Amino acid sequence: MEHSLQHRERVLILQRPVSVAGGMEHSLQHRERVGVQDFVLLEDYTSEAAFIDNLRKRFSENIIYTYIGNVLISVNPYKALPIYSPEKTQLYFKKAFFEAPPHVFAIADNAYRSLVYEHREQCILISGESGSGKTEASKKVLEYIAARTNHLHNVETVKDKLLQSNPLLEAFGNAKTNKNDNSSRFGKYMDIQFNYEGAPEGGHILNYLLEKSRVVSQMPGERNFHIFYQLLAGGDEETLKSLRLQNRPETYKYTTDSNTHVTRASDAEQFRLVQDAMKVVEIQEAEQRELMQLVASVLHAGNIRFLSNDKGRAEILTHDAHCENVAELLKVDTSKLRAALTWRTIEARGDVVSTPLDLEQAHFARDALAKAIYDRLFSWLVSRLNASLAPKARSAKDSVIGILDIYGFEVFPKNSFEQFCINFCNEKLQQLFIQLTLRQEQEEYLREGIAWEPIEYFNNIVICDLIEARHQGIISILDDECLRPGDATDASFLEKLSSQLDGHPHFKSHRRVDPKRQKVMGRDEFCLAHYAGEVTYCVSTFLEKNNDLLFRDLQNLMATSSNTIVGKCFQVQTQNKKRPETAITQFKNSLNDLIKILSSKEPSYIRCIKPNDFKMPMQFDDKLISHQVKYLGLMENLRVRRAGFAYRRTYEAFLERYKCLCADTWPNYQGSARDGVQKLVDELKYEKEEYRMGNTKIFVRFPKTLFETEDAFQE
Ligand code: ATP
Ligand code: MG
Repeated sequence: MEHSLQHRERVLILQRPVSVAGGMEHSLQHRERVGVQDFVLLEDYTSEAAFIDNLRKRFSENIIYTYIGNVLISVNPYKALPIYSPEKTQLYFKKAFFEAPPHVFAIADNAYRSLVYEHREQCILISGESGSGKTEASKKVLEYIAARTNHLHNVETVKDKLLQSNPLLEAFGNAKTNKNDNSSRFGKYMDIQFNYEGAPEGGHILNYLLEKSRVVSQMPGERNFHIFYQLLAGGDEETLKSLRLQNRPETYKYTTDSNTHVTRASDAEQFRLVQDAMKVVEIQEAEQRELMQLVASVLHAGNIRFLSNDKGRAEILTHDAHCENVAELLKVDTSKLRAALTWRTIEARGDVVSTPLDLEQAHFARDALAKAIYDRLFSWLVSRLNASLAPKARSAKDSVIGILDIYGFEVFPKNSFEQFCINFCNEKLQQLFIQLTLRQEQEEYLREGIAWEPIEYFNNIVICDLIEARHQGIISILDDECLRPGDATDASFLEKLSSQLDGHPHFKSHRRVDPKRQKVMGRDEFCLAHYAGEVTYCVSTFLEKNNDLLFRDLQNLMATSSNTIVGKCFQVQTQNKKRPETAITQFKNSLNDLIKILSSKEPSYIRCIKPNDFKMPMQFDDKLISHQVKYLGLMENLRVRRAGFAYRRTYEAFLERYKCLCADTWPNYQGSARDGVQKLVDELKYEKEEYRMGNTKIFVRFPKTLFETEDAFQE
């Protein structure tokens, strides 16, 4: 044990052949400081402290990447590092993992090679909490692939479009939050499609759950979606005039709360980039104008003022300029818009009844309209991008690398419907991780002809079932309450949960509070024991958010719009569907579709970690990181990885390195690599239990065995 540091140094030498490493940065002194580049090489792999210590060491040396086997751990440096230069990029072309330092480029190259040379479809799953660097990592993958395929002809426009889709999606889907100045407020899965030569020829994007509540209100210190500020700061006079906009965000209720002046110049600059990006993805000027009309209409909608008349009904002033502006921009009739915002028509047994709205209901209707417009324009934008990214001519041999950049597990002091959806999503992805990683392991054992040894691990399928099981699951109970006519409320939903799920090991009702628990649950809360830890959810607004109601009058009115985007977004749905799906059921279905797509592919994982809460470089907050190590399930990941044969090398690579340790294999050896390795391990007296000989690789159970071999090599 006292040699552990030495061991680690030596393994680093082992991992970085001189031909690749070279130069001062790989001097012995340097290696002493930087820990191990693969956590499987940690002597005490069960200790979280040792894990974090290794991360810290590397972080303080500006080394942000480390592996757990083939999973990449990335710590956000919050500063520009010189590790993405063209030279560094080149370093990863056609390299196996162990031939160069851990890097997101290594993940990308590995995926690319497996796709092109071995015809296995790939996906790269990126997870981590807000601000941990997921979106940056996904962009690096895209940039790497663009560089990697540079020599292939005729792909410039496709690559341009793929790269330019990012600023566009970010303008409409990202916002400044307290955690991240450029926080993605939607989930994204992007396929990059390749032709038979391995050149990108198109792409396709799926979007998940845009946080549309942000359109109408934001937390203190946060902003609305970037595009609003970009348009106000960067739109020229003529554009703003035609949209009837003033250039100050403070003028508009939906953008007023945010401290915006600091970034005004960069908002204007970004707006130009957005306009350029729209050109690249072939959004025509007429369409751009219509798109901006929608954006502007949302700002105006927020400023529509309602008054309560003497009968307690909501009214809009006769010449409310904002109401007129909305009608004009959306190309609908003003008086009809007025009516739709203050009345509600209900059809009951063939009778049509109109009832007036009170002030609160009118505000609700207005905000629902603004959210619906924005949410649908975002989806429209994605489908518009997809049209532009669609490959011109697809052939049967096409294949894809998918990149998933989706919200990580969330726990706030107060958690609502949105966190419930997001954490459900993470639960599903964890389930996929378990299935795919084990499958991958089993397949490798099978390929190599090695007997599979079952590994013990926590299977979170029980939590997935708790949430989505057909009749008894939380989603099904919620939907039943939403669709039940009459007096269903958030409280009645909670009652049903508590009575139907009572006793489930992962569900805790407020009725049965464990006296040992520190935090007492409120009467409107329930708690789920997720794989990543316990989360308490407050049921308030669950029903409303799940119903996602847009009054039919507004829906019907929008469908009459002669703005082509609005018309498309609010197309009247065919009547044969009995009831529109609830928000959570739509999400569940799209998530299950995603899981299907991902399970048909070979996965790579990037787990992103945020080092501190202050967006600061060089600050490593142990406590914060410890939380994330737990949420990301990294210790369990490492344990599973170490449970089997932690270390594998092809016979050729192993023999090449150690042949000099055995008289039979050095200096002269003519036999096969496999026989050579066998002679070598016999000479080194590997115990039978310590290793297996596969078809093409040697599998070593304990890194310690390898350390000793490496020691012998050094002597
Ligand atoms: P969210 O879930 O809120 O969308 P995220 O995980 O996508 O968060 P990013 O937007 O990728 O987080 O990263 C947040 C910020 O951290 C970036 O804007 C950038 O300033 C910095 N950052 C992330 N990764 C890197 C990196 N590899 N090098 C330098 N800076 C980085
Ligand atoms: Mg992001």
